[in-house]
Amino acid sequence: MTTDPIDCGFGHAALRLLLLLLLSAGTAAGQYHTYWGDVHGHSTVSDGKSSPDDYFTYARDVAKLDFVILTDHDFGNRAPWRMPKENWQLIQDKADQFNADGRFVAIGGYEWTSQAKYWSGFTNGPSERLFPGPPRFYNHKNVYFTNRIDYLFSAKDPACNNPDTLAEAVRKHDGLIQNNHPFAVFNEARDQWEYAPANSSVIVNTEMGLDTSRYQGKTYQLNWEKGVREFLNHGGKTGFVAGTDTHDGKPVARTAVLATGLTRTAIFDALRHRRNYAINHARIGLDFRINGHFMGEDIELTGKPRIVVDVKGTAPIEEIIIVRNGEVVYTLHPQQQNASFTYVDETFAGPSYYYVRVIQTDTDPHGNRSHAWSSPIWIKKKP
Ligand SMILES: [Zn+2]
Ligand SMILES: [Zn+2]
Repeated sequence: MTTDPIDCGFGHAALRLLLLLLLSAGTAAGQYHTYWGDVHGHSTVSDGKSSPDDYFTYARDVAKLDFVILTDHDFGNRAPWRMPKENWQLIQDKADQFNADGRFVAIGGYEWTSQAKYWSGFTNGPSERLFPGPPRFYNHKNVYFTNRIDYLFSAKDPACNNPDTLAEAVRKHDGLIQNNHPFAVFNEARDQWEYAPANSSVIVNTEMGLDTSRYQGKTYQLNWEKGVREFLNHGGKTGFVAGTDTHDGKPVARTAVLATGLTRTAIFDALRHRRNYAINHARIGLDFRINGHFMGEDIELTGKPRIVVDVKGTAPIEEIIIVRNGEVVYTLHPQQQNASFTYVDETFAGPSYYYVRVIQTDTDPHGNRSHAWSSPIWIKKKP
């Protein structure tokens, strides 16, 4: 006997509803796995020191990453300062070769590089003007795809030399874009946030980092997190990732994604929905939900936001904060490795974004404490 699934009796419908409720409860209880990766690194295809083979091998075998993206500069490594098509094909060939669904996800990408000229202090390249026309400084953005595309969309190409035209081109190929190193040390970052709000569905994430950062014995005031908060405070929409930007072929874990499985499609699905968070150094486990919704979601609520945070640290946790619209609304100093709490925001009054930041007591080799920053959750009152 067959039953038309549309035309089943009340009993069936009730059962189905119950099953559906059970299934969605199962989803909220953790259908996602946490995977660790690096979304930013270079090879000899542009200004890095190691080959794509070494880059992917290090990621898989030494850093023990679940996924990695190779993102060489679109200017390549020699005149005429535009990555040759065969090198773009090579990046995709190598990613396809190393990719092994279920074990290690390798993704081919590139760094769209909008800057006036080479920084001659950093590279041996000429001070040739990279960006034609009146100077705009959109900074660097990583672009990546699940599937092969014929040729990359270069910042040097007038057809896609601003974030909006780039986003339109990338959208057609189901690719994703992230804002890189958004701190404003260089003038090159000046116009980086200039894109239409609708293109946030393609330019989904931004690299997150410390406001004050130590590197090789020196301290740099980057105001990195402050800058990202400013963007969010003005209504900008972005999730948080992080990358090493390694030029030595040594990617490490900087981004965690909450994905249904270890495949390119699942990793992209997580990144597209901002089910990801940024870390500095330690692999801090971070579960942040509001009324059962995951980081990266945009929700409407009746009543007050019920924020649930669960941190599985790797060292004593010095501080956990909840940020709402740029301000800290809750602080906890657990002084132990794990922490779990619920906070109901009684002062919630209207459209808001929230994110969680965790700081541990341990440090990276440069002396920066281990951090984790959840992607935000955006909330509106249900009308
Ligand atoms: Zn860059
Ligand atoms: Zn880079």
